[in-house]
Amino acid sequence: MNLAALPSVEKLAQQLVRDSNLPKSLVVGFIKRQLVPCRERLMAGEELTRDDITAEIAQALASFENSRLRPVLNGTGILIHTNLGRAPLGHRAAKAVYDVATNYSNLEIDLETGKRGTRGGFLEESLAILVEAEAATVVNNCAASLVLTLRALIEEGKTEVIVSRGELVEIGGGFRIPDILETSGAKLVEVGATNKTHLRDYEKAITERTALILKVHRSNFYLDGFTGEPELEDLFQLAKDHNIPLVEDLGSGALMHTDQLAPIEHEPRPQEQLGRGIELVLFSGDKLLGGPQAGIIAGRADLVAKIKQEPFYRAVRPDKLILTALQEVVIDYLTIKDDPTRLDLVPVLEMLSQSPEDLQAKAEALQKRIDGPSEIVPTTGATGGGTMPKSQFPSLAVRTTNKPDLPNLFTRVENDLHHTDPRTLRETKTWPQP
Ligand SMILES: *Cc1c(COP(=O)(O)O)cnc(C)c1O
Repeated sequence: MNLAALPSVEKLAQQLVRDSNLPKSLVVGFIKRQLVPCRERLMAGEELTRDDITAEIAQALASFENSRLRPVLNGTGILIHTNLGRAPLGHRAAKAVYDVATNYSNLEIDLETGKRGTRGGFLEESLAILVEAEAATVVNNCAASLVLTLRALIEEGKTEVIVSRGELVEIGGGFRIPDILETSGAKLVEVGATNKTHLRDYEKAITERTALILKVHRSNFYLDGFTGEPELEDLFQLAKDHNIPLVEDLGSGALMHTDQLAPIEHEPRPQEQLGRGIELVLFSGDKLLGGPQAGIIAGRADLVAKIKQEPFYRAVRPDKLILTALQEVVIDYLTIKDDPTRLDLVPVLEMLSQSPEDLQAKAEALQKRIDGPSEIVPTTGATGGGTMPKSQFPSLAVRTTNKPDLPNLFTRVENDLHHTDPRTLRETKTWPQP
């Protein structure tokens, strides 16, 4: 046992802090934590020199520093890449976040009366107008919107939630709809078969204990072949006859006609589903919508009001920065409605709408920045992030043997060759220091 091999924290910190951009207190704390297992290994008899330990800790500190959240370059051509932070926010919305973040704001004050105002009131009203719903509200993410909605709409003796077996999806990160459903206190009643669910399957499952019928949009996989499900209009009539709310978890929540933006399928829009009889839709803020992480609940005003009264709502309500970001993205959508040429306001929409021809110049410019041989080849892009599994669209990529030497670049590797798709490659813009 040679505990003398342990370096002095102070000396090591002085040495390592020079090569890092971290405050010294963080480096000191990090070293202390690293030394704990080193000491144990020495006590266990491992032969370790001071140089070994120093080198190991320097390496660990570099990895730790690299894990700090920062902008990266997405050359994968996948628009909504959950590992790369899903949708990038537009600059106009991001600037509004900066302004609200660094100043006091009218978060819960009515500027006209000076009295207490409604938190998120402007956002809720604008969202309702955008998705053509009676009312809307926002929570931290779509998973939270599902748990909250179920909690609010079940009651003593009425806890059963009917879901088709074809819709019991895993939404990512290992989370499955049945598990999310049970955490809310609801009891899952599965109906139908994996490939087919009939209206009569739903009908037979309805009892006096039924709280609601839940539809879950198959947002990250598709069923093909001998499949079938009842028409939404028929399901709505059935739910209405039994006075049971019909709720749909849409997952992505594309607000635009995706099939008009790109040569891909049509993703059901919240406004369409509400128009077809769904009484509440739930969808994500940071998938195809292109906003911040959020879960949006829109539909019947009495149901939305009930949801906002559920105590759990307080635990999942978003902060002012998210409210600001989403508010501005909603404004962007309404601006685009007035002027369809303004897709640039919402990066995801702009990137989705570009054709390979539109990307040619960007690909050539990228080639010039890359050392060594490269060629421009046709590829396919995808929406990704558990959205629209069938939707692949033609794109372009700069193909190289080595990964292009750009900071924190992610490429798509096919047949050992790097493909950098200019569609998702955005110029890294960082905020000017005030
Ligand atoms: C992605 C997804 C969710 C989860 O959305 P988050 O905003 O990530 O919580 C829920 N349901 C479906 C169908 C989804 O596709």
